[in-house]
Amino acid sequence: MTPDQALRSHRWCKLICGASYHHVPAIRNLALVYGLAGVNCIDVAADPAIVQAAVEGLAVAHTLGMVQRPWLMISLSDGEDPHFRKAVFEGDRCPSECARPCLPVCPTHAIDHRGVTADLCYGCGRCLTVCPWQRIETHPQTYDPRSLLMGPLGAEIQAIEIHTQPGRETAFAGLWQHLAPVVPQRQAVSVSFPEMPDLEASLRSRLARMQPPPRHLIWQVDGRPMSGDIGRGTARAALRLGEKVLGFGLPGFVQLAGGTNDSTAADLVQQPGLAGAAFGGYALRLWWMKCWHGRRSPGNLSRRPRRSGGPRPRLGRQHPPCPSPHLCPKFVILRKERADTHDGSHPPRSYRQPGTVVAHVARSPPPGRGSTRQP
Ligand code: SF4
Ligand code: SF4
Repeated sequence: MTPDQALRSHRWCKLICGASYHHVPAIRNLALVYGLAGVNCIDVAADPAIVQAAVEGLAVAHTLGMVQRPWLMISLSDGEDPHFRKAVFEGDRCPSECARPCLPVCPTHAIDHRGVTADLCYGCGRCLTVCPWQRIETHPQTYDPRSLLMGPLGAEIQAIEIHTQPGRETAFAGLWQHLAPVVPQRQAVSVSFPEMPDLEASLRSRLARMQPPPRHLIWQVDGRPMSGDIGRGTARAALRLGEKVLGFGLPGFVQLAGGTNDSTAADLVQQPGLAGAAFGGYALRLWWMKCWHGRRSPGNLSRRPRRSGGPRPRLGRQHPPCPSPHLCPKFVILRKERADTHDGSHPPRSYRQPGTVVAHVARSPPPGRGSTRQP
C-alpha cells in the first residue's frame, strides 16, 4: 500500500523521530527498522545529516525486502516550539547534594553527570520540571528548510510538516510564503498543532494561507506532546482533539499524535474518520525494548571500536548472550557490502565495526535455539 493509499484508506501510520532529535546512528536504525515494519511516513529533523541517515536506513531496508518506501518528512516550526529545543546544563555547577532527579526521567538517557548530550535530547522538557534548582535551560533549534529542500537531498523529501501554536497566523503565513516554491514538488504537507482557543477559526485561517494547496493535507492533532511513552492514558487527549477537528469538516486528513501509544489502535477503530496516527516516544521506546532488549541506550550504539592502545570497549562484556532467540531469531548485520548472521552474542561481535547497521529481521529460530519464553 502506498502512503497516499494508506491516508485514503485510514491506515496511515507515521514514525516521528523527533524534530530536534539528532542522533545519527539511532535515526539510521529507526528508519531501517520501521521502514521494514511498514510505516507510511518517517518524520525527521530538517537537518541534512539526519535526512541522509534516514535515507541510508531506508536503502538498507530496501535491500532487506521493504515492501513500500515510506515518505520522508521534515519538521519545521513557525516560531518557538517545545519540539524544537534542546535542554542544556553544566553538570559540574549542580549542587553536590542534588539527588539528580533529572537523570531517570530522561527518555533517551541524554543526561549524565556532565550535562545533556545534545544529539540525544529531543526537548521533551521532563528534566526541566523535576530540577529543584532550575539549572536546566533550553536552546531553540532552527533550520534552513529552503536550502535543504532545494539541495541534493531535496528529492528524498516527500513531505513537510509545519508546527504551529496559538496566535501565530502571521508567522505561519510567512513560513508558508518561504516554502511555497518547494511545496508543489512534495506529496504532502502536515500541519501540527495543540489544542488552542478558537481552534476552528485558527485552522481555517491557516488553510486560507496555504496557496498553492498541497497535494495531500494532513492535520496532525498534537494531543499531549511528546508523552506517548509515559503511559496508556496519554493517548486520550489526542483522540479528543482529533474528534473535535473532524467535526470542523476541513479538507484533508486528520491524524493523531502527541501521547499516542498502543492504546491508540483501539481509538482509531472507535473513530473511523481519522486517517491514522503518528508515534514518537512510544515508537522509540518500543525500538529500544524490542531491538535492544532494553539494555542499550542509543548513546551506546555509536560507541566506537577499540583503537590500538585505547580502552577495551565494554559492549561485549556488559551484554550476556541474547536470552530471547525466539524474539531475536537472527540479527542480520549489514556493513554496506556484506551480511553476517547473529552468533548469539549480544550485541553481535561484528556490530563493533563502525558504520554497521543492525536490523531485527523476523525469521525462524535456528535449530535447537527456539524458546517460547518472552523476555
Ligand atoms: S528529559 Fe527531555 S528535554 Fe531533558 S534532556 Fe532528556 S530528552 Fe532532553
Ligand atoms: S536535577 Fe538540576 S541541579 Fe540536580 S543534577 Fe539535574 S540539573 Fe543539576
